[in-house]
Amino acid sequence: MKHIGYYIFLIFFLIIFIPVVVLGGVGEGLKLPVIINRIPSFLNQPEDVKKVDSDIKVKVYDVKKGKIIELNLEDYVAGVVSAEMPVSFHIEALKAQAIAARTFVLANMISQGGSGCSKCKGADVCSDVHCQAWLSKEERLKLWAPEVALSNWNKIMEAVNSTKGLVITYNGQIAKHVKYHSTSGGKTEDSRYVFGYQEPYLVSVESPYEEEAPNYITTVVMTKQEFVRRIKQLSPSIKIDEKKLANQIKILDWTEGGRVNKIKIGDQEFTGIDIRWAMGLKSAAFSIKIDSKNVTFTVKGYGHGVGMSQWGANEMGKRGYTYNQIIKHYFKGVEIKNIDEVLKN
Ligand SMILES: [Zn+2]
Repeated sequence: MKHIGYYIFLIFFLIIFIPVVVLGGVGEGLKLPVIINRIPSFLNQPEDVKKVDSDIKVKVYDVKKGKIIELNLEDYVAGVVSAEMPVSFHIEALKAQAIAARTFVLANMISQGGSGCSKCKGADVCSDVHCQAWLSKEERLKLWAPEVALSNWNKIMEAVNSTKGLVITYNGQIAKHVKYHSTSGGKTEDSRYVFGYQEPYLVSVESPYEEEAPNYITTVVMTKQEFVRRIKQLSPSIKIDEKKLANQIKILDWTEGGRVNKIKIGDQEFTGIDIRWAMGLKSAAFSIKIDSKNVTFTVKGYGHGVGMSQWGANEMGKRGYTYNQIIKHYFKGVEIKNIDEVLKN
């Protein structure tokens, strides 16, 4: 019993002196008011501090249900990761995907000054690829074989939880235009060729190791007749002679990322992106061969090619790169920060 005084002193010491030393800080003096100001920081936060992290609610226009639903930020991110990237991908790629998805939605959120989904008024994002593909947990679980569904979902949650609240920033602000795509085909694209705006972090970079991706190289073959039908659908006023096609198609200019920038067909000029959609190609990185019967497109990659290549990220993950290295490779000059830290600025 005679030790009681000793224990009381010890407890007193731990409560008062340790925080003084730890929180008082060098050079600020060991003044008690400093401690009081610092310890209960949640008590003296002004009420207009933006709600952060798990408090953030996302208004998602559920395309299948035809209505806006409200989700916690992290639940929304999990639904995007599960819909946008194969669960078989490396965990570091899934983490990078979670951070990209979280950044995209925050930059779009109306409550955070974003402009929301342009297809649905009042929604921050839609559940379609127009914004980011999203699936509810129930929908997602049903799409996997029952024996692997739960372990798959746990892997998605591991990627989301281990990067909770992390976003991509540029100059201390949430990166406005975080883009990603399936397969770059070896080199990503500068945003100005695809979206018409420039961002220092959306420049063309090498994307090695993608050769194993299913859409690294694809071919599309169509008859000359079909080619002409499609180009006339794109531009009804075009003058083109089906019998002399080889002399009437010329790629004029390539982008920095190796995609077709401008192409002359018949008497008109098109962008590579126009031709991609008109001919049903997986990307604008194509070459054309014309023989006596057919037009053959050889296409590299899948998607617009801007920002992070998902297959490239997977391959980097398999080679030992972390999510941090993957993101900083595809988005030049960015930092990864916690939302709390960014929104306070
Ligand atoms: Zn949308």
